[in-house]
Amino acid sequence: MSYALVINSGSSSIKFQIVDPAADASDDPFVSGLVEQIGEPQGRITVKYNGDKFIVQKPVPTHGVGLQETFKILDAKGIGPTQLDIVAAGHRVVHGGMVFSQPELINDQVVEMIRDLIPLAPLHNPANIDGIEVARALLPNIPHVAVFDTGFFRDLPPAAALYAINADVAEKNLIRRYGFHGTSHEFVSSQVAEMIGRDPMHTRQIVLHLGNGASASAVANGKPIDTSMGLTPLAGLVMGTRSGDIDPGIIFHLVRQGGMSIDEIDNLLNRQSGVKGLSGVNDFRELRTMIDNENTDAWLAYNVYINQLRRFIGSYMIELGRVDAITFTAGVGENDKDVRLDALDNLEMYGIKVDPEKNDLPNDGPRVISTDDSKVKVLVIPTNEELAIAQKAAAVAAQVS
Ligand code: ADP
Repeated sequence: MSYALVINSGSSSIKFQIVDPAADASDDPFVSGLVEQIGEPQGRITVKYNGDKFIVQKPVPTHGVGLQETFKILDAKGIGPTQLDIVAAGHRVVHGGMVFSQPELINDQVVEMIRDLIPLAPLHNPANIDGIEVARALLPNIPHVAVFDTGFFRDLPPAAALYAINADVAEKNLIRRYGFHGTSHEFVSSQVAEMIGRDPMHTRQIVLHLGNGASASAVANGKPIDTSMGLTPLAGLVMGTRSGDIDPGIIFHLVRQGGMSIDEIDNLLNRQSGVKGLSGVNDFRELRTMIDNENTDAWLAYNVYINQLRRFIGSYMIELGRVDAITFTAGVGENDKDVRLDALDNLEMYGIKVDPEKNDLPNDGPRVISTDDSKVKVLVIPTNEELAIAQKAAAVAAQVS
């Protein structure tokens, strides 16, 4: 059996999986795990394998130590990366700017190019580079591949990609819509045509990735034509803790009248806003319990969330002109049947009819939840970004071997 190692390195954590690139999206990965609290006095490494969970608590001063310790744990169980047939390591990289649209075989030059993009993702790209560098040092004999969160959206039409701000300022500061969650939007949208029996080159669709982070995309004939996240992942839909689109004037108001610093506003809009900012919780299971208990803040937060979601669905329907499918994915999209019903409520005149019974079925794989006579098919397709990265990394590795 051959596997890919998937690494998603954050500022103080590393998520990893060892996964068979030929697995189904709903299969559990062969091995998965998480290194947390890197650089803090007490760190933690969690490994899940074969239905068991192993936790090691010890200081993890750097990403390098984190991966080294993780590999030691895996080696002791006979499932270390050097003990298995690992065909490639796939690294999630948040920002590929206008440079990268496709997965890229990593060499020193590619690392430098990712480094050059740090101004566009000052928190994420440095952490991604840390993960790449330590993994390359520990596993020098396998191909390492960078898979970019922005890649799928690299060639958005200019009408969707450009912001209406001074063109010189925008160009100098690399300001445009880049879009994120691209690996998920591509993975999900590429399954839709076959599921609804259409030619992929004649399929126009909307994908709603509703997790803790949330984004929407409009995809025509395999190519995205618009997406809701922008220069950063803060834009667009209301999310768990992020505001999504707001009047940019709010930021000036908070500086001038609210006396807040830029860092405080950054933290406010990214971590203290969205559903959490309005209700106190960001997890939709808790939000639902609060709504059931008639908590008015929770009800209001839910309505703001749904209203914004419907705004985007409506505008993408107009941009696409004809819509063949609307697909829900990620934690909320796959599991919260009320979100799906409310997002598409009362749209029969646009050919959209969700079948409540199909919508109630448990989340076990890709499924159609619209009525047989619904002109627009509505689907739920579980996303699996790690598997998608594994597939892409293995494909690049196969080309170079
Ligand atoms: P991310 O990758 O952005 O962290 P996920 O796609 O894993 O997010 O989604 C996580 C979110 O999904 C949780 O915060 C929670 O709101 C929601 N979620 C997960 N399971 C359920 C469920 N059974 N019912 C409703 N919401 C759920």
